[in-house]
Amino acid sequence: MTSFAEKMARPEILELTPYSSGYDDAALENGIRLNANENPWRVGGDGFGDFNRYPPSQPEKLIARLSEIYGVGANNVLVSRGADEAIDLLVRAFCRPNQDAIAIAPPTFGSYATAARLQCARIIEAPLTSDYTFDTKAFVVAVKAEKDLKIAFICSPMSPTGGAISKDELASMCEQLSEIIVAIDEAYIEFSALESMADKLSKLENLVILRTLSKAYGLAGARCGAVLASPDIIAVLQKTIAPYPMTTTSIDIAMRALSPVNKLIVDRNIRKVVEERERVAKALNGSHFVARILPSETNFLFIETNDAPLLKKRLDESAIRVRWLKSRQGDAIRLTIGAPDENDLALAAFGVASERGRSRIGECFRETKETNISVAIDLESADPTAINTGIGYFDHMLEQVARHGGFSLLLTCDGDLEVDTHHTIEDCMLAFGAALRDALGDGRGMARFGAALPMDEARAEVLVDLSGRPFSKFSGDFHAPLLGEYPTEMTSHAFRSLSEALRASIHVSVDGGNDHHKTESCFKALGRALRQATRIESNIIPSTKGVL
Ligand SMILES: *Cc1c(COP(=O)(O)O)cnc(C)c1O
Repeated sequence: MTSFAEKMARPEILELTPYSSGYDDAALENGIRLNANENPWRVGGDGFGDFNRYPPSQPEKLIARLSEIYGVGANNVLVSRGADEAIDLLVRAFCRPNQDAIAIAPPTFGSYATAARLQCARIIEAPLTSDYTFDTKAFVVAVKAEKDLKIAFICSPMSPTGGAISKDELASMCEQLSEIIVAIDEAYIEFSALESMADKLSKLENLVILRTLSKAYGLAGARCGAVLASPDIIAVLQKTIAPYPMTTTSIDIAMRALSPVNKLIVDRNIRKVVEERERVAKALNGSHFVARILPSETNFLFIETNDAPLLKKRLDESAIRVRWLKSRQGDAIRLTIGAPDENDLALAAFGVASERGRSRIGECFRETKETNISVAIDLESADPTAINTGIGYFDHMLEQVARHGGFSLLLTCDGDLEVDTHHTIEDCMLAFGAALRDALGDGRGMARFGAALPMDEARAEVLVDLSGRPFSKFSGDFHAPLLGEYPTEMTSHAFRSLSEALRASIHVSVDGGNDHHKTESCFKALGRALRQATRIESNIIPSTKGVL
């Protein structure tokens, strides 16, 4: 039986055979590769990478990870050189030149029309409503009767306008337009409250979803996107795609960024963009250059402007680059949400300011053969805190440091616990110290010194100087070898690792009866000492040298 995809595809495409080396990725990785006319030697030393080899064509590991993240089967995923390539592939595979058409709802993302023009496909336009919302009924009415219409490209959340279309509306549209492919571009969905259409794939054979790592995952430079669709549609696209769409580097970078270890940080970054979006939108409402801001579920704002020439001049003077567009009302801007200090500069060009506290965030990504760690610290926020090192007691200790330190700490470690806990504890403290050092910046205004002496039956004293010079001294001993899986001998080692990475003097002394209490006192006291030392109390660098 002919599948929907086969009925829709250009006949010439169906006759092609997808590119394949004839081996799966594992067979190539573990085999003697005399199949692809590669050069056995490479230029460049260790660490240069195996660039003499072709990358996997559709990397199985990456596809497996994406299918996990997007909640679809591996046979529903095609990896492409950005979602942009996927758009082009769809048009080339399904639209016969000088005959078939695509439908779009302008104003919308430009690549749909570009791909159609390249393919000599017609473009049917059914614009958004006057307030830039998508009217499903009107769209269906406008395009349903069109002859030789093959694909409707709908972006949700929408670009450049920023609004979203509900999942129910989109599903109903797919049903009503069952004769054509409905491609839903979810490039910005991670920034919105919308749920992906991915779980509808099994029911809707004409549904295609476009995803990208460029926006929410911060990988625009890696050029990685994906098509999610029925295995039949994926099979047609396989025939069309270039043999090696992604480079070895891009595959490697994407795999690292998508590692479960980084999930907390990816989510944090998305949250920060959304918070900034709301802050910037609120402040911009007070600018006389702003006529209207459309509600946004993305990482940008669509702003209809007043007095565009002056605004343009002011933005140019501050070297702030934005996307100028013609809206129905006049000149509009698509303003990407940047880092808080960048957004402040943009707000200043708009002649408004927004109350924003100081930002002190720090990160560390540390990858060795023994551990893979990601850490994010926000010294200006007491939450969230989420720690997962695989060592329960140690998680609890780091939670104490964050709680008593009064800062947000996200830390995930995938360590070689099958060996023992040593590398995990040591490397987590190194990564924690490096992230904290990153968050401190030049240390302007901070107290620098901290001391704490919490008491129980146990007593710990932790003295900290965030001097920029590592030094560590630990006095105290423990009698129980283990607390859970946590070896007590690691405590002094943990503080030493921290002092090295944080470049701080840390003096610890502890005594008492119960080793659990003693260890916990050390970490709590560390939190308290860090709270004092990192507190902002002036506007000067706390050293007579002028640097830390
Ligand atoms: C940015 C963007 C894309 C392109 O993503 P790449 O993966 O970088 O090619 C696709 N669709 C929309 C609506 C976009 O804004």
